Amino acid sequence: MSTVQHTELTCARCGTDTPHDVVYAGRLLVQVTCTACGKTLERDVRADYLADLRRRVASKPKRMLRRLRKNPLRFAGSLPKTVPAKPLELLSEIVVVWRAGRTHDSTRSGSRNP
Ligand SMILES: [Zn+2]
Repeated sequence: MSTVQHTELTCARCGTDTPHDVVYAGRLLVQVTCTACGKTLERDVRADYLADLRRRVASKPKRMLRRLRKNPLRFAGSLPKTVPAKPLELLSEIVVVWRAGRTHDSTRSGSRNP
């Protein structure tokens, strides 16, 4: 799931410590935005994200099996809530990662420079 954390960082444009929104997709840092001036730094983590996603998906069956063995009732009860939420969580991560990656494509080619 993509998560936003709020933290104090030094902004290159403001030249001082300001509150920043830090966006993660899973465990990967994707975007840092200064809330004072709006300056955004994005990282192209598409390749890393896919590798990370593959590991997470691969480890899922084991994790689910462990939960099932530990407490079958709770596991069954958690399914209707957790299962439909997963595709949406994944989608929100993918949107964040690809949006940041696309920005890199356009800056690299230089076609969007004013
Ligand atoms: Zn700033």
